[in-house]
Amino acid sequence: MNDFTITGGTIVNPVDNYYGPGTIVVKKGKIAEVRKGKAGKRGNVDASGLLVCPGLVDMHVHLREPGFEYKETIYSGSLAAAAGGFTSVACMPNTDPPLDNQEAVRFVVQKAKEAVVHVYPIGALTKARKGKELAEMGDMLQAGAVAFSDDGNGVQNSVIMRRAMEYCKMLGVTAISHCEFDDLADSGVMNEGAVSSRLGLGGRPRIAEELMIAREIMLAEYTGSPVHIAHVSSAGGVELIKQAKKKKLRVTAETCPHYFSLNDEMLESYDTNLKVHPPLRTKKDVNAVKKGIASGVFDVIASDHAPHAYEEKALEFDYSPPGMIGLETSLALVSTELINNKVIDWLEAVRLMSTTPAYILNIPAGKLKAGEIADITIIDPKHEWTFTEDDIKSLSKNTPFVGKKFIGRVVRTIVSGKTVFELK
Ligand SMILES: [Zn+2]
Ligand SMILES: [Zn+2]
Repeated sequence: MNDFTITGGTIVNPVDNYYGPGTIVVKKGKIAEVRKGKAGKRGNVDASGLLVCPGLVDMHVHLREPGFEYKETIYSGSLAAAAGGFTSVACMPNTDPPLDNQEAVRFVVQKAKEAVVHVYPIGALTKARKGKELAEMGDMLQAGAVAFSDDGNGVQNSVIMRRAMEYCKMLGVTAISHCEFDDLADSGVMNEGAVSSRLGLGGRPRIAEELMIAREIMLAEYTGSPVHIAHVSSAGGVELIKQAKKKKLRVTAETCPHYFSLNDEMLESYDTNLKVHPPLRTKKDVNAVKKGIASGVFDVIASDHAPHAYEEKALEFDYSPPGMIGLETSLALVSTELINNKVIDWLEAVRLMSTTPAYILNIPAGKLKAGEIADITIIDPKHEWTFTEDDIKSLSKNTPFVGKKFIGRVVRTIVSGKTVFELK
């Protein structure tokens, strides 16, 4: 099916703030026309009762290739993305070898051709992500990198971060910061607080995250460079970003579904799937993150999809690697926790999960408009379902959400006019 028409659905299009009936005509992999209002005649894709959105964009995933193909490959990650409604993803450079040079970035761009969704590499800010010397960002940009980050770790040295941000500004791209000071986070495995004391687990204090968020904001102000704060987990972090936005600094921020749906008390189960960096915080933080989403403090919701093998996650809490998968559950969590509880509406959700991340990465996505690539996600907002292991397309299954009841589900994902996922 190359040329088709989607009728009967509700178009959710943040670029012109339109939420209403409409028709989308797709020709040769591109959007030929977006018509508002009820369709005169039926098209060949019936979207009655469904939402028709620009393809979702996840700007923060770990696809593990090269080096850890047993956890995830670019191809398997793309299948997980498609099942979650994502038509574009940006993958972090903490692979082995890391994406810190042109050759490595080219490898991902090459592999991405076999993927079922668009995959964009994020290059490392520093060589080997060691935080000591700037990586060859200009070369990587030419090879196809869309942003730069040492994600997995924060850049500990402030001079290096300053130069990295200035260099990114010069190149016209955004530096993405994983905010945690290693000395303060120490070897902690969960949020430092009452629960960590009770469980006898080492704490990662919120100050480890908040101090670096504050540093990045001050560096953005001092250098005039853009910075994107990854995975904000704490109330203090939300407040810092709110203040930065009041000052109109070039600071954008993301949070992840686990930071608005899970809290540190849940770690009483000792489920290692709940171990993430930064760690799950308290209920108060969860509420602050939700309030931040509701009030426009956040620009992006990203999954921080971080696959790990069963044997790795089966280790004791202290030794299990941090991270959970998220591509298949992101949209469902946004729908169930945020939209269903009236924290935000669908237009805002699609802005956070498509239009704004596409804008930050400067990639061709995020809008339903004539001439654009036909990347379209169709969602059933009322679909009630229980998430099971069978729904996981990722090679890894490290998620705490198996068994969770969701409202809202992706029913079809279209990439360049081709259906790459369809709910059976
Ligand atoms: Zn990170
Ligand atoms: Zn990450």
